[in-house]
Amino acid sequence: MFAVVRQFFRLQAGSYRDCLVRLQAGSYGRHCSVRLQAGSYGRIVGACLQANLRSSCLAALLLALGLNNAHAQSAGPVSVNDEVAAQFALVAADPRVQTTLEQIAAAEPETLAEQVRITEIPAPPFGEQRRAEYYVQQMRQRGLPDAFIDAEGNAVGLLRGTGDGPLFVIAAHLDTVFPLETDVSVELRDGRYYAPGISDDGRGLTALLTLIEAITSSGIRTVGDILFVGNVGEEGPGDLRGIKAIFRDYPDIDGFVSIDGSGLTRMTTGGTGSRRFAVEFTGPGGHSFSAFGMVSAIHAMGRAITRIGDLQVPQTPRTTFTVGTVTGGTSVNSIAADAMFELDMRSNDAAELARLEARVREVTAQAVAEENARWDNNGEITVNFRLIGDRPTGSTAPEHPLVQVAALAFEAVDSPLEALRTSSTDSNIPMSLGVPAITIGGGGSSGGEHAPEEWYEPTDSHKGPQLAFLLTLGLVGIEGLSAPQL
Ligand SMILES: [Zn+2]
Repeated sequence: MFAVVRQFFRLQAGSYRDCLVRLQAGSYGRHCSVRLQAGSYGRIVGACLQANLRSSCLAALLLALGLNNAHAQSAGPVSVNDEVAAQFALVAADPRVQTTLEQIAAAEPETLAEQVRITEIPAPPFGEQRRAEYYVQQMRQRGLPDAFIDAEGNAVGLLRGTGDGPLFVIAAHLDTVFPLETDVSVELRDGRYYAPGISDDGRGLTALLTLIEAITSSGIRTVGDILFVGNVGEEGPGDLRGIKAIFRDYPDIDGFVSIDGSGLTRMTTGGTGSRRFAVEFTGPGGHSFSAFGMVSAIHAMGRAITRIGDLQVPQTPRTTFTVGTVTGGTSVNSIAADAMFELDMRSNDAAELARLEARVREVTAQAVAEENARWDNNGEITVNFRLIGDRPTGSTAPEHPLVQVAALAFEAVDSPLEALRTSSTDSNIPMSLGVPAITIGGGGSSGGEHAPEEWYEPTDSHKGPQLAFLLTLGLVGIEGLSAPQL
């Protein structure tokens, strides 16, 4: 029977919008609902937003839900359950939400101007202060008068909900990889903005400011509390210190989203862990001719690097290592008293990362023993592992409502989610603590991240803050309308 109806509908109507129009007119309801259940709720909401059919959109969704409550729907790679979809539909169909979405789109030129201003304030690792001061000022002007800079250097602003709701954190990172002296002036050529850090994370920071203004000016009261954070220390040497501090200071966080860079087809639900060491070799040192026969720190280091270079690691879960830098020695005619290499190890699996580190320590100890034995212990080389980076591994289950709401928001702004990814972002910290977390992009496209030629292209870039707006409201709930999903 359903197959017959479905076939009939295919002949009668070609799109959701057409279907919604028919629904509004009071006809073809049954056929439409069959068509709708074959699609996904997010797409229906998206069609609704484009068609500006408000009450009919909700009616269509509820009808589809009623006919199809035994089955989960899919939004790209994420399976969405009916209750989450129904709550999200309530948010997306709210007239205040729709008006604000239009305002976000209209304000995109100003959002881009802000992105340029932020990018032009240098923010090297451990040198984010000037940018943080500007950012906290912007937070205050956009409806968070109590925003402040915390002890770690994060710009933090809290928007309270009605009480008893969840605490949701949404963040973007202030720091770049570029040293203070880097030229960060922005150049616009052929529709592209060029500057170091323009996308990573100039875009995320700007999308977050637009989000703050959108929520505080919408007239909407949220159920949950929202903590907005412009955080320090995401890039390399920062070692996620900003978000580590946030989770120390606020132990009851229920969900976390990081807006990092551009794009709007990806969602990071896995956190690649890393351990980084400066491995330091020390010995007596001496003259290359007269003291010949003595142990050498550089020779010991060479033996260690050779052994590390031969280690085998699994492809799945992806596990990697490299000796990134070497330094040491005094002069060409000295037996080296010191030597050091820096080692980066990463894995998508915590146990594999620990196994790799144990192997590295083992072969390094063997190398040192071999060097000492080679010269009959004439002098002694010792080795020290100094930890210089520690990012915990973690993941958020694709079934978690946070991921489901995000997938619906992607579809609602007509930018369907293509894949779930694993990478190293600020979300590693909450993931490792068992707090649901994802990292998304701020819209538009980009290239050359972490290089001086970094660029940003604002095609459909307004969809970034729109997505963040729908996602945030979907998660914290709207007073008198929808329930929080955290
Ligand atoms: Zn980034």
